[in-house]
Amino acid sequence: MSKSRWIFIFFIILILTINVPIFQAQNQPSIDLQGLTWDHTILTVLVITKDDEIWWDNSYINSTLRAINVWNNAILNFSSYGSQFSYLSQIRLVPSVSQTLEPGFDIYITWQEEYAGTNTLGTSQAIYEPPCTIINNSITLGAKTKTYILNEVDMQNIAIHELGHALGLGHSNYANDIMYPQYTPRGNVIALSTLDLYGVSVVFEWLSHYPYIPKCPSKSSISLPFYVQYGYLPISYENLPPPTPPPYKTLLDFILGLISSPYVIIFLLLLTIFLIILLVVIWRAMGTKETSEDDTLVLGGQNE
Ligand SMILES: [Zn+2]
Repeated sequence: MSKSRWIFIFFIILILTINVPIFQAQNQPSIDLQGLTWDHTILTVLVITKDDEIWWDNSYINSTLRAINVWNNAILNFSSYGSQFSYLSQIRLVPSVSQTLEPGFDIYITWQEEYAGTNTLGTSQAIYEPPCTIINNSITLGAKTKTYILNEVDMQNIAIHELGHALGLGHSNYANDIMYPQYTPRGNVIALSTLDLYGVSVVFEWLSHYPYIPKCPSKSSISLPFYVQYGYLPISYENLPPPTPPPYKTLLDFILGLISSPYVIIFLLLLTIFLIILLVVIWRAMGTKETSEDDTLVLGGQNE
């Protein structure tokens, strides 16, 4: 991967974590918590499309819905890692899609063409009621940067990252973690880690104590406890982007593609020249054959 292909994400929350020394990541992956939590567990998400914009691509909707499913499945999966995490099974993101902003949702996701002149890919902003209760969270995803146009896989990865912030996570210091503040396009969806899910379990730890009164998680950097190994949660097939179709599905597609090409006139010209040369060669070859037959006749005559 060339260095120029590195795309950097600068999020609002980066301010909190930019000083984490990178060498620490080699030994012990850790993740920051924003020190915020939700006071309920069914979180409604409104995905606001931008159908009228020239840069809009409908695949952004599915990328985002798959990102939401990746989180839901990972949370449910991690809730079975041990009885101490079982309360996580109550947490769920419930998406709706709309062309307009509607009130009353917990999390909003929308897009803009780009963060002009920067390599920013997305932002997440929480509005909270002191000391720590999130009222709502707004996510904005960029369709491109000044050097790179995001594809369906990238869009899903960035959405997963931003949803992590919406769930109260900050950034990880581990480069292979989806919550790392820099993103390198890599062609595949990045799975959530046990560290990400453990972070969410700490954000919602108040659910483990009756009478379930929201309690502020400490605004700190946390690592996995000794009984949880760093690893990745599985992603089901339906939550992966569809494979890229081949450029030409059938011979007819190939021919149609060729005809619509701006080079078709040059191609036809070259084809005509080739056919003329071929005809000349065949004609001359036939002429040679006739001469040869004459010679045979002459030879036959001599034998008689
Ligand atoms: Zn971030």
